[in-house]
Amino acid sequence: MFGILFCAVCPAFGTPDSTKRSKDTIRIVAVGDMCFARGVEQAASKAGPSYPFERMLSALQQADIAFGNLECALTAHRAAVPKRYNFRASPTWAAKLAKAGFDVVSVANNHSQDFGSRGLADTVTSLTRAGVVPVGGGLTMSEARSPRVVARKGVRVAFLAYLGMFPPVLPILASGPSVAMAEPASMRVDIAAARKKADVVVVSLHAGVEMVTTPSRRQKSLAAEALRAGADVVLGHHPHVVQPVERHHGKVIFYSLGNFVFNPSPSFLRNPEGPWAAMADIRVSRRGVTEATLVPLLIVDRQPRPRKR
Ligand SMILES: [Zn+2]
Repeated sequence: MFGILFCAVCPAFGTPDSTKRSKDTIRIVAVGDMCFARGVEQAASKAGPSYPFERMLSALQQADIAFGNLECALTAHRAAVPKRYNFRASPTWAAKLAKAGFDVVSVANNHSQDFGSRGLADTVTSLTRAGVVPVGGGLTMSEARSPRVVARKGVRVAFLAYLGMFPPVLPILASGPSVAMAEPASMRVDIAAARKKADVVVVSLHAGVEMVTTPSRRQKSLAAEALRAGADVVLGHHPHVVQPVERHHGKVIFYSLGNFVFNPSPSFLRNPEGPWAAMADIRVSRRGVTEATLVPLLIVDRQPRPRKR
């Protein structure tokens, strides 16, 4: 299984041959979970603010659009909601994400509300101020479910993001700061709306079982639902390990990209070479996905980095 996941480059389809790429093709790179709590902030304060991204800066900055899953609240608000793990980091991380090259981040996950509605609102506001587009979360449910369109070289890419785990961290309210829930009926409506505004639709899905390298039945059914509704790409995360890539008639599902910047778990420390992190490298044009590749990464000293080929 790991052999399949960790071939140097696992092409989902298409040939990574730059000579054949047309001028109207853009590159999207996507990474998994980023949590700046649990010691990452302290490490960065010693080693420098760009420390967690340092070895991936060229990949992130050379992409036309870089995406990641922000798995913590960016807030100074200290009142944690009652749950097992509450992740919080300084709102200054929003500008660090922008500087590293991130254009879009998902906040539809099980930690963006760890410091309540206020923590989520602070996260969304600080990202927006820093020029990073938050997706899957907003100051109202309608904002959370709105497709966010990013255009590059004439190609319009719509992003949507959903939390596929129930129950949600906070009660679902239409009027307050919210995250979008992966509920098929509402996903169909949102994806149809996104299709009207964009050439390519990317759906981020925070779902699955932690530390399991195969997608769950629920992950599969939600991803299939997203494709049926008109999505071109599904970007999965939450399991903290990398899961397979599937292609369906020119569309692609990355079930889990694993971690990107996340405090190492004991199993990680026992096997640092394991399937912990990967980057999706995707080329799209106005006609849809032209190439999709899973690029395995290593995480050493809290820093994601390319594996040697
Ligand atoms: Zn998660």
